[in-house]
Amino acid sequence: MKKKFKLKDFFNSLRVRIAALILVLGVVPCTIFAFSFMAVYEKRSVDSDVTELVAKGQVLNKQIISSGYLNQHESELVDDQIEMLSKSYSGRIMVVDDTLTIVKDTFQADEGKTIIWGNVVKAFQDKTTSLYDDENNYLVVTIPIKAEGDDTVLGVLVLNKDMNYIDTNLEYFQSLSIILLIILYVLMIVVAVVFSYRFVRPLHKFGRAVSDVDRGISQELVEVEDYTETKELSEQMNSLLNRMRVVDESRQEFVSNVSHELKTPLTSMKVLADSLNGQEDVPVELYREFMADIGDEIERETKIINDLLSMVKLDKAEATLNISPVNMNELIELVLKRLKPIAEKQHVELLFESFRPVIAEVDEVKITLAITNLVENGIKYNKEGGWVHVSLNSDHQYCYLKVEDSGMGIPQESIEHIFERFYRVDKSHSREIGGTGLGLAITRGAVSLHRGDIKVHSVEGEGTMFDVRFPLNYISKEARV
Ligand code: ADP
Repeated sequence: MKKKFKLKDFFNSLRVRIAALILVLGVVPCTIFAFSFMAVYEKRSVDSDVTELVAKGQVLNKQIISSGYLNQHESELVDDQIEMLSKSYSGRIMVVDDTLTIVKDTFQADEGKTIIWGNVVKAFQDKTTSLYDDENNYLVVTIPIKAEGDDTVLGVLVLNKDMNYIDTNLEYFQSLSIILLIILYVLMIVVAVVFSYRFVRPLHKFGRAVSDVDRGISQELVEVEDYTETKELSEQMNSLLNRMRVVDESRQEFVSNVSHELKTPLTSMKVLADSLNGQEDVPVELYREFMADIGDEIERETKIINDLLSMVKLDKAEATLNISPVNMNELIELVLKRLKPIAEKQHVELLFESFRPVIAEVDEVKITLAITNLVENGIKYNKEGGWVHVSLNSDHQYCYLKVEDSGMGIPQESIEHIFERFYRVDKSHSREIGGTGLGLAITRGAVSLHRGDIKVHSVEGEGTMFDVRFPLNYISKEARV
């Protein structure tokens, strides 16, 4: 199905963001450069014109002084030089004497007039000044006229320059910059599109690989090693895939185990019933015997179903927990009292040792189930005249529970399997004594729900010890995060 285009998705896309970044990084500096170049050009031009005019003015200055031009107002040589200079930069030069009278004006417009202007006054205070009017495009430089080695200002030179050329040049630069910037923008857009696509390509590759696995097209693991990040992502994805496979396999195995376990008593019942039906004139005793066997099988089936239901409830977890403060000493005594008849039947002694009164925040039903399973196993897998020893202790944080027996023990190679569902060390013996292979799985599930753990030590032929530990105060999932 084609995905609907969404503006938000578009802007959130990594590709668009990378493209935008490349564009910004490429375009902004070039644009700033183009504009600042023009501003710098204007300033540099004015500065160099001022320097040039001052230098030329200094030369003129010397000749005005040496020719006594300010007093006689006549010197063909100086006049020529002033005219030549003004023509050389197409400007205007005025010479002002100490009475502020314009004694020479190359434009001849203001000769003989008095000039009262701030910069001229400043020049009489021995200051060279310049004024650039960028609106009307002219530059005026005022230079004091004075003899060398003497600070007395005898007159002022006013050099005026038309600066229109700056505007002309700027206009030229502007149109050139616009063309260059447009070319650059187009180039940057191409670069941004190409590179953003290349940068994001491994992510698309990763997405396709995951989707292939998801749709069952590929069983291969995801391997995108273009970037360190995609490599890490692939590893994490593969570990998730492996876990999912393990879960799936164990689910399948569980379903087939459940079917098998549920079928076994049914098969026995069918065999018993068929053999009764297949015989004529069956003696009543045989009927009774077979019916008693069928009753046992029904009981067994019920036990398996009950254990399965307990396990399903534990799997639903957290939400179904009913936590309250429970007196553990009383709880254990009650469990032992309930199991006493079975223990006596097997001639197994039940012992309870408590180091202190322990109150723990637990789900009473689930913890009772866990302890019952452990003690029941201690009795079931024991020998005549054996014992099961339960001890209870605590510190400020944990409740410690030990269930020790003098039974047959567990072979070393089976220890790591005993908590698995339907695992039994000796299938036929366990069946004989009414085991379903679910007891320890239920126990471990219940202890884990209380954030506890369970350990087992066993020596074959000598006995087994289960060590259980869980926090006295229940730690909820939210509190753990
Ligand atoms: P079952 O219902 O068969 O007892 P469990 O899950 O309770 O199932 O135990 C799994 C297997 O671990 C048992 O079949 C038994 O072989 C072994 N086991 C458990 N507890 C003990 C014990 N205290 N002593 C010896 N073996 C034990």
